[in-house]
Amino acid sequence: MNIGIVGLGLIGGSLGIDLRSLGHQVLGVSRNSLTCQLAIERGVVDDASVNLTLLAAADVVFVCTPITAIAPTIQQLVPHLATDAIITDVGSVKAAVVEVVTPLWHNFVGGHPMAGTADSGIDAAQSQLFAGNPYVLTPLDTTPPAAVKIVEEIVRSLRSQVYFCRPEEHDRAVAWISHLPVMVSASLIEACMSESETSVLELAQNLASSGFRDTSRVGGGNPELGVMMARYNHKSLWRSLLSYRHCLDQLITEIEQENWHALEQRLQDTRKNRPSFLSEDVRD
Ligand code: NAP
Repeated sequence: MNIGIVGLGLIGGSLGIDLRSLGHQVLGVSRNSLTCQLAIERGVVDDASVNLTLLAAADVVFVCTPITAIAPTIQQLVPHLATDAIITDVGSVKAAVVEVVTPLWHNFVGGHPMAGTADSGIDAAQSQLFAGNPYVLTPLDTTPPAAVKIVEEIVRSLRSQVYFCRPEEHDRAVAWISHLPVMVSASLIEACMSESETSVLELAQNLASSGFRDTSRVGGGNPELGVMMARYNHKSLWRSLLSYRHCLDQLITEIEQENWHALEQRLQDTRKNRPSFLSEDVRD
């Protein structure tokens, strides 16, 4: 199959490496001619160009740009595509993307690989990034089933676990397990920094170890990504934050009232429930 990729960063580049190794002809489009050159040299793509016309031969195109650029990229892409070509995207939010892109191209299937690293750009591209990880597809009732089937087959061939849901369900789910944790973790760092005694703050910074490293990791990441989550998944994230604040208020009350029994019950419940969010190999 001829597979096009627009945006040769972490996700686009990693897709290119795996899809080539599966025998597909991979055509990459980057805004930058140096990236095109590197992508060919490193075996990320078979051919690359700064021009979307390269994708006239593509059967399927993965749009792997930042979320803000997905719809504008597809708008520029469609005049160059064969009429039966399929477009899919990899954006981390779905409702906002699917709503705008669906009227632009009939054969569009929304997607989100739940895999990544903290790095970005072509240098971050790696093989087997998607293997063993979930990959969500969010077709609508109007999405042509043949297009869904082809995207599903490609995604399964990456050894991803495929999940189907509506775009809004996807956004609610990732608000809980991806976007809310970023805001909670950022608030944790901010709260620690409010310590008014400089010597205490310094001591805390020196004593911080694995527990703090785990709980602060996602809050100390790329600010642009955090803003993107809040902007494009606004309603679901807002709802999750309100619920989180409610839980925090209950905790504050229990501690204020020295209600150790209620606190213990709460922590027993959270300990019991945590494994249901984790795959078996990382439960500890
Ligand atoms: P990335 O490494 O920064 O790659 C994005 C690429 O898009 C850039 O390397 C650049 O490629 C191109 N690009 C950047 N700005 C652009 C613009 N304004 N217009 C057109 N192209 C632009 O980011 P990524 O992590 O691969 O993320 C790409 C997409 O994957 C995003 O939609 C994100 O939501 C989604 N995603 C990310 C992760 C993750 O963990 N990082 C996980 C799942 C899904 P060129 O220089 O080649 O043009």
